[in-house]
Amino acid sequence: MTSISTAHGLLAIAGGSPVRAKVLRYGRQSIEEDDVQAVVETLRSDWLTTGPRVAEFEEAFASYVGAKYAVSFSSGTAALHGTVSVAGLLSGDEAITSPMTFAATANCVLYQNATPVFADVAPDTLNLDPAQAELKITRRTKAIIPVDYAGHPAEMEAFSALAAKHGLVIIEDACHALGAAYRGRKTGSIADMTVFSFHPVKHLTTGEGGMVTTQDAELAEKLRRFRNHGINSDARKRQLEGTWHYEMISLGFNYRLPDLACALGLSQLKKQNASLFRRRQIAARYTAALQEIPGVIVPQVRADVVPAWHLYPIRVDPLRFTVGRAEIFRALRGENIGVNVHYIPVHFHPYYRDRFGDRGGEFPMAESAYEQLISLPIFPGMTDEDIEDVVTAVSKVAEFFGR
Ligand SMILES: *Cc1c(COP(=O)(O)O)cnc(C)c1O
Repeated sequence: MTSISTAHGLLAIAGGSPVRAKVLRYGRQSIEEDDVQAVVETLRSDWLTTGPRVAEFEEAFASYVGAKYAVSFSSGTAALHGTVSVAGLLSGDEAITSPMTFAATANCVLYQNATPVFADVAPDTLNLDPAQAELKITRRTKAIIPVDYAGHPAEMEAFSALAAKHGLVIIEDACHALGAAYRGRKTGSIADMTVFSFHPVKHLTTGEGGMVTTQDAELAEKLRRFRNHGINSDARKRQLEGTWHYEMISLGFNYRLPDLACALGLSQLKKQNASLFRRRQIAARYTAALQEIPGVIVPQVRADVVPAWHLYPIRVDPLRFTVGRAEIFRALRGENIGVNVHYIPVHFHPYYRDRFGDRGGEFPMAESAYEQLISLPIFPGMTDEDIEDVVTAVSKVAEFFGR
């Protein structure tokens, strides 16, 4: 490392002082006093698990995304498992999904002993490319699981057309996309089933938690049963009805989201529009400032969507820097910017390599993007100063390593 200075001083990894003193994480929950109160109130109530808050949260959530039904789960992953199960995926079946996602999107297919089949992503949005997905359709294909990467909605109309043509179920992994819109429709109201996550880095949190939304009453009923051992009514309903009788009619799990968590979810949902507004504001400021920096490629937004900005992933053009992404990443961490990488393509993980073989080179768009991606911090609690720090750090590091 040479010790050439930049307009912002020496890089921290070369002994300079960092842009900020404290680490800025890439994502973080926003918990306020009303959230705390909502949980405490529920703690003092009669119901800790399935009680009145579950249905209240589900109804409010369904109404927020414009869906008829919402079924809560103990995590986004459990929700994904629910969708592939009620879609009827079994051993021998296939579901097509994106390699540019969190492993859970593909893992849920394996839970059903079915096979996840990857198809490459589009170069601009890094979302599953419908044309690539179509090439992977066989007579065993049952579902397509597009992911709204970073909060940018997938090409839902193209996937719906594929579904109609081939008799497939569309499960949208919208864990990044609560509040997004596609062609004037809200994410959660479009696919056969849409999955959301309430992990603390996501748009709203319940600690752990997830939701499936659907317009289909039968799917909603099957999802409710699946998350409750395959039993056809819940304990609270039986108590209210004064009956002991229930039937387990399919094999399910305990994937319930407790009242405690739903109370937090309800309180968080009230602030969702304000949080979303702030995420969009942060993204707009980043884009305005960072698109001026040579070699930095800002996230692309298509004209027919309004993204929800769970992530703000930039790409660093390898031709414009003297070092690779890893070194740029290390330098940004040195400046106390808590950058991250989303995602290591799923087929690169050791488990997937062991099970399906080394498929390096099979998904060139996802693989080349992976080499360049860096997620910058974005969460509603960020201050204007935090945004400035990130922009300064990216400018500093890009200047130092720029060709
Ligand atoms: C967060 C996430 C999940 C899993 O959600 P959990 O609630 O953490 O189980 C699945 N898919 C994507 C794309 C995610 O970002």
